Amino acid sequence: MAPYEDKTEIQKDITEMVHQFVDEQIIPNAEHFDHEDTFPEAIVEQMKELGLFGVTIPEQYGGMGLDLTTYAMIVEELSRGWISISGVVNTHFIGSYLLMKFGTEEQQEYFLPKMATGEIRAAFSLSEPEVGSDVQGIKATAKRDPASGDWVLDGQKMWVTNGLGSGVVFVLMRTDPKADPPHRGMSCFITEKTPWVEQNEGAFAGLEVPPKIKKMGYKGVESTELIYSGYRCPEARILGGAEGIGRGFSQMMDALEVGRVNVAARGVGIAQRALELALRYSQERRTFGKPIAQHQAIQFKLADMATQIEAARLLTLKAARMKDAGVRSDLEAGMAKLLASETGKECVEQSFRIHGGYGYSKEYEVERLYRDAPLLLIGEGTSEIQRMVIGKKLLERNRI
Ligand SMILES: Cc1cc2nc3c(=O)[nH]c(=O)nc-3n(C[C@H](O)[C@H](O)[C@H](O)COP(=O)(O)OP(=O)(O)OC[C@H]3O[C@@H](n4cnc5c(N)ncnc54)[C@H](O)[C@@H]3O)c2cc1C
Repeated sequence: MAPYEDKTEIQKDITEMVHQFVDEQIIPNAEHFDHEDTFPEAIVEQMKELGLFGVTIPEQYGGMGLDLTTYAMIVEELSRGWISISGVVNTHFIGSYLLMKFGTEEQQEYFLPKMATGEIRAAFSLSEPEVGSDVQGIKATAKRDPASGDWVLDGQKMWVTNGLGSGVVFVLMRTDPKADPPHRGMSCFITEKTPWVEQNEGAFAGLEVPPKIKKMGYKGVESTELIYSGYRCPEARILGGAEGIGRGFSQMMDALEVGRVNVAARGVGIAQRALELALRYSQERRTFGKPIAQHQAIQFKLADMATQIEAARLLTLKAARMKDAGVRSDLEAGMAKLLASETGKECVEQSFRIHGGYGYSKEYEVERLYRDAPLLLIGEGTSEIQRMVIGKKLLERNRI
Protein backbone atom coordinates (compact mmCIF):
# COMPACT_ATOMS: atom_id res chain seq x y z
CA MET A 1 0.00 0.00 0.00
CA ALA A 2 1.48 3.39 -1.00
CA PRO A 3 1.86 5.81 1.93
CA TYR A 4 -0.90 8.09 0.61
CA GLU A 5 -3.20 5.16 -0.17
CA ASP A 6 -5.84 4.26 2.32
CA LYS A 7 -7.08 0.98 0.90
CA THR A 8 -5.58 -2.51 1.09
CA GLU A 9 -5.60 -4.69 -2.05
CA ILE A 10 -8.70 -6.54 -0.84
CA GLN A 11 -10.46 -3.26 -0.10
CA LYS A 12 -9.54 -1.93 -3.53
CA ASP A 13 -10.82 -5.05 -5.30
CA ILE A 14 -14.09 -5.21 -3.43
CA THR A 15 -14.91 -1.49 -3.65
CA GLU A 16 -14.13 -1.48 -7.39
CA MET A 17 -16.44 -4.44 -7.83
CA VAL A 18 -19.23 -2.73 -5.85
CA HIS A 19 -18.62 0.58 -7.67
CA GLN A 20 -19.15 -1.14 -11.01
CA PHE A 21 -22.24 -2.98 -9.69
CA VAL A 22 -23.67 0.37 -8.55
CA ASP A 23 -23.01 2.03 -11.93
CA GLU A 24 -24.49 -0.84 -13.91
CA GLN A 25 -27.33 -2.13 -11.72
CA ILE A 26 -28.34 0.40 -9.10
CA ILE A 27 -28.09 3.91 -10.61
CA PRO A 28 -29.97 3.05 -13.85
CA ASN A 29 -32.79 1.32 -11.91
CA ALA A 30 -33.14 3.42 -8.74
CA GLU A 31 -35.53 5.90 -10.34
CA HIS A 32 -37.99 3.15 -11.25
CA PHE A 33 -38.04 1.56 -7.77
CA ASP A 34 -38.12 4.98 -6.09
CA HIS A 35 -41.04 6.13 -8.22
CA GLU A 36 -43.04 2.93 -7.67
CA ASP A 37 -41.88 2.63 -4.04
CA THR A 38 -41.37 -1.10 -4.57
CA PHE A 39 -38.74 -3.35 -3.02
CA PRO A 40 -35.75 -3.71 -5.40
CA GLU A 41 -35.89 -7.51 -5.40
CA ALA A 42 -33.76 -7.98 -8.53
CA ILE A 43 -30.94 -5.82 -7.14
CA VAL A 44 -31.09 -7.53 -3.75
CA GLU A 45 -30.87 -10.97 -5.41
CA GLN A 46 -27.67 -9.89 -7.16
CA MET A 47 -26.30 -8.55 -3.88
CA LYS A 48 -26.87 -11.97 -2.35
CA GLU A 49 -24.86 -13.53 -5.17
CA LEU A 50 -22.04 -11.04 -4.59
CA GLY A 51 -21.99 -12.07 -0.92
CA LEU A 52 -22.84 -8.55 0.29
CA PHE A 53 -25.06 -9.80 3.13
CA GLY A 54 -22.14 -11.63 4.72
CA VAL A 55 -19.33 -9.09 4.40
CA THR A 56 -18.55 -8.98 8.14
CA ILE A 57 -19.78 -12.48 9.05
CA PRO A 58 -16.86 -14.87 9.78
CA GLU A 59 -15.83 -17.31 7.04
CA GLN A 60 -16.69 -20.31 9.26
CA TYR A 61 -20.34 -19.29 8.87
CA GLY A 62 -20.06 -18.67 5.14
CA GLY A 63 -19.34 -14.94 5.22
CA MET A 64 -16.34 -12.95 3.99
CA GLY A 65 -14.99 -12.17 7.47
CA LEU A 66 -14.04 -8.60 6.57
CA ASP A 67 -13.78 -5.72 9.02
CA LEU A 68 -15.93 -2.66 9.72
CA THR A 69 -13.61 -0.41 7.70
CA THR A 70 -14.09 -2.48 4.54
CA TYR A 71 -17.81 -2.64 5.23
CA ALA A 72 -17.95 1.17 5.55
CA MET A 73 -16.20 1.48 2.17
CA ILE A 74 -18.81 -0.83 0.61
CA VAL A 75 -21.66 1.12 2.21
CA GLU A 76 -20.28 4.37 0.80
CA GLU A 77 -20.33 2.84 -2.69
CA LEU A 78 -23.86 1.43 -2.32
CA SER A 79 -25.16 4.76 -0.98
CA ARG A 80 -23.58 6.56 -3.91
CA GLY A 81 -26.07 4.55 -5.95
CA TRP A 82 -29.12 4.76 -3.68
CA ILE A 83 -29.30 4.94 0.10
CA SER A 84 -32.30 2.61 0.18
CA ILE A 85 -30.00 -0.19 -0.96
CA SER A 86 -27.67 0.45 1.95
CA GLY A 87 -30.82 0.46 4.12
CA VAL A 88 -31.54 -3.11 3.03
CA VAL A 89 -28.15 -4.27 4.37
CA ASN A 90 -27.75 -1.85 7.30
CA THR A 91 -30.09 -3.43 9.86
CA HIS A 92 -28.89 -6.86 8.69
CA PHE A 93 -25.32 -5.84 9.42
CA ILE A 94 -26.31 -4.59 12.90
CA GLY A 95 -28.13 -7.87 13.60
CA SER A 96 -25.11 -9.94 12.59
CA TYR A 97 -22.85 -7.70 14.71
CA LEU A 98 -25.10 -8.32 17.74
CA LEU A 99 -24.97 -12.08 17.18
CA MET A 100 -21.20 -12.14 16.64
CA LYS A 101 -20.51 -10.06 19.73
CA PHE A 102 -23.17 -11.18 22.20
CA GLY A 103 -24.90 -14.28 20.78
CA THR A 104 -24.57 -17.76 22.28
CA GLU A 105 -22.79 -20.39 20.19
CA GLU A 106 -26.15 -21.96 19.38
CA GLN A 107 -27.57 -18.59 18.24
CA GLN A 108 -24.53 -17.93 16.06
CA GLU A 109 -24.64 -21.38 14.48
CA TYR A 110 -28.37 -21.18 13.87
CA PHE A 111 -28.60 -17.69 12.39
CA LEU A 112 -25.26 -16.61 10.91
CA PRO A 113 -25.02 -19.11 8.01
CA LYS A 114 -28.51 -18.16 6.82
CA MET A 115 -27.73 -14.48 7.27
CA ALA A 116 -24.40 -14.70 5.43
CA THR A 117 -26.18 -15.78 2.25
CA GLY A 118 -29.09 -13.38 2.73
CA GLU A 119 -31.50 -16.34 2.96
CA ILE A 120 -32.92 -14.50 5.94
CA ARG A 121 -32.49 -10.77 6.46
CA ALA A 122 -32.45 -8.99 9.81
CA ALA A 123 -34.22 -5.92 11.19
CA PHE A 124 -33.33 -3.93 14.30
CA SER A 125 -35.99 -2.37 16.49
CA LEU A 126 -35.70 0.13 19.32
CA SER A 127 -38.10 2.95 18.40
CA GLU A 128 -41.74 3.12 19.45
CA PRO A 129 -44.54 5.54 18.54
CA GLU A 130 -43.74 7.72 21.57
CA VAL A 131 -40.00 7.06 21.83
CA GLY A 132 -37.04 7.54 19.51
CA SER A 133 -34.06 9.40 20.98
CA ASP A 134 -34.87 8.53 24.58
CA VAL A 135 -34.50 4.76 24.27
CA GLN A 136 -34.78 4.24 28.03
CA GLY A 137 -38.41 5.32 27.74
CA ILE A 138 -39.58 2.30 25.73
CA LYS A 139 -42.79 0.71 26.91
CA ALA A 140 -42.93 -2.67 25.13
CA THR A 141 -42.53 -5.50 27.61
CA ALA A 142 -41.59 -9.15 27.77
CA LYS A 143 -42.86 -11.23 30.72
CA ARG A 144 -41.73 -14.70 31.66
CA ASP A 145 -44.49 -17.31 31.60
CA PRO A 146 -43.69 -19.49 34.64
CA ALA A 147 -45.53 -22.51 33.21
CA SER A 148 -43.52 -22.84 29.98
CA GLY A 149 -40.46 -20.70 30.75
CA ASP A 150 -41.13 -18.77 27.51
CA TRP A 151 -41.15 -15.00 27.40
CA VAL A 152 -44.32 -13.31 26.17
CA LEU A 153 -43.79 -10.08 24.19
CA ASP A 154 -46.30 -7.24 24.03
CA GLY A 155 -46.04 -3.73 22.66
CA GLN A 156 -45.82 -1.58 19.57
CA LYS A 157 -42.61 -0.79 17.71
CA MET A 158 -42.23 1.99 15.15
CA TRP A 159 -40.05 2.77 12.14
CA VAL A 160 -38.71 -0.74 11.65
CA THR A 161 -36.62 -0.69 8.47
CA ASN A 162 -37.03 -4.04 6.66
CA GLY A 163 -39.96 -4.65 9.02
CA LEU A 164 -41.91 -6.75 6.50
CA GLY A 165 -39.24 -8.54 4.43
CA SER A 166 -36.99 -9.53 7.34
CA GLY A 167 -36.95 -13.06 8.77
CA VAL A 168 -35.62 -12.01 12.14
CA VAL A 169 -35.99 -8.86 14.26
CA PHE A 170 -33.61 -7.91 17.07
CA VAL A 171 -36.00 -6.10 19.36
CA LEU A 172 -35.51 -4.29 22.68
CA MET A 173 -38.09 -5.00 25.38
CA ARG A 174 -38.48 -4.13 29.05
CA THR A 175 -38.06 -7.31 31.07
CA ASP A 176 -38.03 -5.63 34.47
CA PRO A 177 -40.36 -2.60 34.47
CA LYS A 178 -39.33 -1.73 38.05
CA ALA A 179 -35.61 -1.49 37.25
CA ASP A 180 -33.96 1.76 38.28
CA PRO A 181 -32.36 3.09 36.15
CA PRO A 182 -34.71 1.64 33.50
CA HIS A 183 -31.91 0.54 31.14
CA ARG A 184 -30.90 -2.21 33.60
CA GLY A 185 -34.27 -3.86 33.07
CA MET A 186 -34.14 -4.29 29.28
CA SER A 187 -33.30 -7.30 27.11
CA CYS A 188 -32.84 -7.90 23.40
CA PHE A 189 -35.00 -10.64 21.89
CA ILE A 190 -34.23 -12.41 18.63
CA THR A 191 -37.73 -12.68 17.23
CA GLU A 192 -38.21 -14.86 14.17
CA LYS A 193 -41.00 -14.19 11.72
CA THR A 194 -42.16 -15.18 8.27
CA PRO A 195 -40.74 -12.74 5.67
CA TRP A 196 -43.29 -10.69 3.69
CA VAL A 197 -46.20 -11.89 5.84
CA GLU A 198 -48.30 -9.30 7.64
CA GLN A 199 -50.08 -11.60 10.06
CA ASN A 200 -47.64 -14.19 11.40
CA GLU A 201 -49.03 -17.58 12.36
CA GLY A 202 -47.97 -20.86 14.00
CA ALA A 203 -44.72 -20.54 15.99
CA PHE A 204 -44.58 -16.82 15.18
CA ALA A 205 -48.21 -15.98 16.04
CA GLY A 206 -48.65 -12.70 17.91
CA LEU A 207 -46.55 -10.59 15.55
CA GLU A 208 -48.35 -8.33 13.11
CA VAL A 209 -46.82 -6.00 10.53
CA PRO A 210 -49.16 -3.12 9.60
CA PRO A 211 -48.94 -1.57 6.09
CA LYS A 212 -45.67 0.23 5.42
CA ILE A 213 -45.29 3.87 6.42
CA LYS A 214 -45.50 6.30 3.47
CA LYS A 215 -42.31 8.37 3.36
CA MET A 216 -40.88 11.45 1.66
CA GLY A 217 -37.86 9.53 0.40
CA TYR A 218 -35.87 6.40 1.30
CA LYS A 219 -38.39 4.51 -0.80
CA GLY A 220 -38.17 0.91 -1.92
CA VAL A 221 -37.02 -0.33 1.46
CA GLU A 222 -40.04 -0.60 3.75
CA SER A 223 -40.33 1.03 7.19
CA THR A 224 -43.12 -0.43 9.27
CA GLU A 225 -44.64 -0.68 12.70
CA LEU A 226 -44.50 -4.04 14.45
CA ILE A 227 -47.21 -5.12 16.85
CA TYR A 228 -46.26 -7.79 19.36
CA SER A 229 -49.26 -9.15 21.19
CA GLY A 230 -48.69 -12.37 23.06
CA TYR A 231 -45.72 -13.34 20.83
CA ARG A 232 -43.89 -16.21 22.54
CA CYS A 233 -40.11 -16.36 22.61
CA PRO A 234 -38.09 -19.13 24.29
CA GLU A 235 -35.34 -18.04 26.67
CA ALA A 236 -32.82 -19.40 24.15
CA ARG A 237 -33.85 -16.53 21.88
CA ILE A 238 -32.81 -13.78 24.28
CA LEU A 239 -29.57 -12.37 22.86
CA GLY A 240 -26.82 -14.11 24.87
CA GLY A 241 -29.36 -16.54 26.44
CA ALA A 242 -30.25 -16.26 30.13
CA GLU A 243 -27.10 -14.21 30.71
CA GLY A 244 -28.39 -11.57 28.30
CA ILE A 245 -31.36 -10.74 30.56
CA GLY A 246 -31.01 -7.11 31.63
CA ARG A 247 -28.17 -6.46 29.19
CA GLY A 248 -30.21 -5.48 26.14
CA PHE A 249 -29.78 -1.74 26.42
CA SER A 250 -25.98 -1.83 26.51
CA GLN A 251 -25.91 -4.44 23.71
CA MET A 252 -28.08 -2.22 21.51
CA MET A 253 -26.04 0.90 22.31
CA ASP A 254 -22.86 -0.95 21.37
CA ALA A 255 -24.46 -1.91 18.05
CA LEU A 256 -25.55 1.69 17.48
CA GLU A 257 -21.90 2.73 17.63
CA VAL A 258 -21.08 0.62 14.58
CA GLY A 259 -24.42 1.66 13.11
CA ARG A 260 -23.27 5.28 13.34
CA VAL A 261 -20.13 4.57 11.33
CA ASN A 262 -22.39 2.90 8.84
CA VAL A 263 -24.73 5.92 8.58
CA ALA A 264 -21.67 8.17 8.28
CA ALA A 265 -20.55 6.10 5.27
CA ARG A 266 -24.00 6.57 3.77
CA GLY A 267 -23.65 10.34 4.20
CA VAL A 268 -20.31 10.27 2.37
CA GLY A 269 -21.80 8.14 -0.43
CA ILE A 270 -24.80 10.38 -1.11
CA ALA A 271 -22.60 13.50 -0.91
CA GLN A 272 -20.16 11.95 -3.40
CA ARG A 273 -22.99 11.28 -5.84
CA ALA A 274 -24.30 14.84 -5.41
CA LEU A 275 -20.82 16.13 -6.28
CA GLU A 276 -20.52 13.86 -9.33
CA LEU A 277 -23.86 15.11 -10.64
CA ALA A 278 -22.89 18.74 -9.97
CA LEU A 279 -19.53 18.35 -11.71
CA ARG A 280 -21.19 16.94 -14.79
CA TYR A 281 -24.11 19.33 -14.97
CA SER A 282 -22.01 22.43 -14.32
CA GLN A 283 -19.79 21.64 -17.31
CA GLU A 284 -22.76 21.04 -19.61
CA ARG A 285 -25.03 23.93 -18.68
CA ARG A 286 -24.09 27.31 -20.14
CA THR A 287 -25.07 30.79 -18.98
CA PHE A 288 -23.72 34.18 -20.04
CA GLY A 289 -21.65 32.59 -22.78
CA LYS A 290 -19.82 29.90 -20.82
CA PRO A 291 -20.37 26.69 -18.86
CA ILE A 292 -21.61 27.56 -15.36
CA ALA A 293 -18.58 25.66 -13.99
CA GLN A 294 -16.52 28.61 -15.23
CA HIS A 295 -18.33 31.01 -12.89
CA GLN A 296 -16.42 31.42 -9.68
CA ALA A 297 -19.55 31.17 -7.52
CA ILE A 298 -20.19 27.67 -8.89
CA GLN A 299 -16.54 26.64 -8.52
CA PHE A 300 -16.66 27.68 -4.86
CA LYS A 301 -19.67 25.44 -4.30
CA LEU A 302 -17.86 22.52 -5.95
CA ALA A 303 -14.73 23.23 -3.91
CA ASP A 304 -16.64 23.30 -0.62
CA MET A 305 -18.46 20.09 -1.46
CA ALA A 306 -15.31 18.19 -2.39
CA THR A 307 -13.49 19.44 0.72
CA GLN A 308 -16.33 18.52 3.06
CA ILE A 309 -16.65 15.06 1.50
CA GLU A 310 -12.96 14.33 1.88
CA ALA A 311 -13.04 15.39 5.55
CA ALA A 312 -16.19 13.36 6.27
CA ARG A 313 -14.71 10.28 4.55
CA LEU A 314 -11.48 10.50 6.54
CA LEU A 315 -13.32 10.87 9.84
CA THR A 316 -15.63 7.97 9.00
CA LEU A 317 -12.70 5.70 8.14
CA LYS A 318 -10.86 6.79 11.27
CA ALA A 319 -13.82 5.84 13.48
CA ALA A 320 -14.12 2.48 11.64
CA ARG A 321 -10.40 1.73 11.94
CA MET A 322 -10.43 2.55 15.67
CA LYS A 323 -13.34 0.19 16.22
CA ASP A 324 -11.56 -2.52 14.21
CA ALA A 325 -8.44 -2.03 16.32
CA GLY A 326 -10.51 -2.48 19.50
CA VAL A 327 -9.89 1.12 20.54
CA ARG A 328 -12.71 3.07 22.18
CA SER A 329 -14.36 5.02 19.37
CA ASP A 330 -17.67 6.29 20.72
CA LEU A 331 -16.58 9.91 20.39
CA GLU A 332 -15.23 9.46 16.85
CA ALA A 333 -18.29 7.46 15.72
CA GLY A 334 -20.53 10.29 16.95
CA MET A 335 -18.38 12.90 15.21
CA ALA A 336 -18.30 10.91 11.97
CA LYS A 337 -22.07 10.42 11.99
CA LEU A 338 -22.68 14.11 12.70
CA LEU A 339 -20.25 15.47 10.11
CA ALA A 340 -21.00 12.98 7.34
CA SER A 341 -24.79 13.13 7.58
CA GLU A 342 -24.74 16.94 7.62
CA THR A 343 -22.27 16.84 4.70
CA GLY A 344 -24.66 14.57 2.81
CA LYS A 345 -27.53 17.00 3.32
CA GLU A 346 -25.40 20.08 2.54
CA CYS A 347 -23.81 18.68 -0.64
CA VAL A 348 -27.19 17.54 -1.98
CA GLU A 349 -28.52 21.05 -1.33
CA GLN A 350 -25.59 22.61 -3.22
CA SER A 351 -25.90 20.17 -6.11
CA PHE A 352 -29.62 20.93 -6.26
CA ARG A 353 -28.88 24.66 -6.51
CA ILE A 354 -26.31 24.07 -9.25
CA HIS A 355 -28.98 22.20 -11.24
CA GLY A 356 -31.19 25.28 -11.23
CA GLY A 357 -34.82 24.56 -12.17
CA TYR A 358 -33.93 21.08 -13.44
CA GLY A 359 -32.97 20.05 -9.90
CA TYR A 360 -36.68 20.37 -9.12
CA SER A 361 -37.64 18.03 -11.94
CA LYS A 362 -38.15 14.32 -11.35
CA GLU A 363 -36.20 13.77 -14.60
CA TYR A 364 -33.00 14.57 -12.70
CA GLU A 365 -31.40 12.27 -10.13
CA VAL A 366 -30.66 15.07 -7.70
CA GLU A 367 -34.41 15.37 -6.98
CA ARG A 368 -34.34 11.87 -5.42
CA LEU A 369 -31.17 12.67 -3.48
CA TYR A 370 -32.92 15.76 -2.11
CA ARG A 371 -35.69 13.60 -0.65
CA ASP A 372 -33.32 10.87 0.57
CA ALA A 373 -30.58 12.86 2.31
CA PRO A 374 -32.57 14.19 5.33
CA LEU A 375 -33.11 10.67 6.66
CA LEU A 376 -29.43 10.49 7.54
CA LEU A 377 -29.88 13.43 9.94
CA ILE A 378 -32.41 11.33 11.88
CA GLY A 379 -31.58 7.60 11.72
CA GLU A 380 -29.26 6.07 14.39
CA GLY A 381 -29.62 9.23 16.46
CA THR A 382 -30.33 12.79 15.31
CA SER A 383 -27.62 15.45 14.95
CA GLU A 384 -28.71 16.89 18.31
CA ILE A 385 -28.22 13.49 19.94
CA GLN A 386 -24.78 13.12 18.29
CA ARG A 387 -23.79 16.49 19.74
CA MET A 388 -24.96 15.32 23.16
CA VAL A 389 -22.87 12.13 22.80
CA ILE A 390 -19.82 14.06 21.60
CA GLY A 391 -20.11 16.67 24.38
CA LYS A 392 -20.50 14.01 27.08
CA LYS A 393 -17.56 11.94 25.82
CA LEU A 394 -15.36 15.01 25.45
CA LEU A 395 -15.97 15.95 29.07
CA GLU A 396 -15.39 12.36 30.19
CA ARG A 397 -12.05 12.26 28.43
CA ASN A 398 -10.97 15.70 29.64
CA ARG A 399 -12.01 15.70 33.27
CA ILE A 400 -10.26 18.25 35.47
C1 LIG B 1 -37.05 6.20 7.61
C2 LIG B 1 -36.71 5.87 9.03
C3 LIG B 1 -36.21 4.61 9.33
C4 LIG B 1 -35.95 4.25 10.66
N1 LIG B 1 -35.52 2.98 10.94
C5 LIG B 1 -35.42 2.59 12.23
C6 LIG B 1 -35.12 1.23 12.56
O1 LIG B 1 -34.88 0.40 11.67
N2 LIG B 1 -35.12 0.86 13.86
C7 LIG B 1 -35.39 1.75 14.88
O2 LIG B 1 -35.36 1.36 16.04
N3 LIG B 1 -35.67 3.05 14.60
C8 LIG B 1 -35.68 3.50 13.31
N4 LIG B 1 -35.99 4.81 13.01
C9 LIG B 1 -36.30 5.73 14.11
C10 LIG B 1 -35.20 6.72 14.38
O3 LIG B 1 -34.11 6.08 15.00
C11 LIG B 1 -35.80 7.85 15.22
O4 LIG B 1 -36.72 8.56 14.39
C12 LIG B 1 -34.75 8.78 15.75
O5 LIG B 1 -33.99 8.15 16.74
C13 LIG B 1 -35.37 10.06 16.36
O6 LIG B 1 -36.39 9.74 17.25
P1 LIG B 1 -37.82 10.45 17.12
O7 LIG B 1 -38.23 10.41 15.70
O8 LIG B 1 -38.73 9.80 18.11
O9 LIG B 1 -37.57 11.93 17.55
P2 LIG B 1 -37.57 12.50 19.03
O10 LIG B 1 -36.73 11.69 19.90
O11 LIG B 1 -38.97 12.72 19.44
O12 LIG B 1 -36.88 13.92 18.79
C14 LIG B 1 -37.57 15.02 18.19
C15 LIG B 1 -36.60 16.19 18.08
O13 LIG B 1 -36.12 16.56 19.38
C16 LIG B 1 -34.71 16.50 19.41
N5 LIG B 1 -34.30 16.04 20.75
C17 LIG B 1 -34.71 14.93 21.40
N6 LIG B 1 -34.12 14.86 22.61
C18 LIG B 1 -33.31 15.96 22.71
C19 LIG B 1 -32.45 16.46 23.73
N7 LIG B 1 -32.26 15.80 24.87
N8 LIG B 1 -31.80 17.62 23.48
C20 LIG B 1 -31.95 18.29 22.33
N9 LIG B 1 -32.77 17.86 21.33
C21 LIG B 1 -33.44 16.71 21.53
C22 LIG B 1 -34.32 15.51 18.32
O14 LIG B 1 -32.97 15.72 17.90
C23 LIG B 1 -35.34 15.86 17.26
O15 LIG B 1 -34.92 17.02 16.59
C24 LIG B 1 -36.18 5.19 11.69
C25 LIG B 1 -36.64 6.48 11.37
C26 LIG B 1 -36.92 6.82 10.07
C27 LIG B 1 -37.45 8.19 9.76
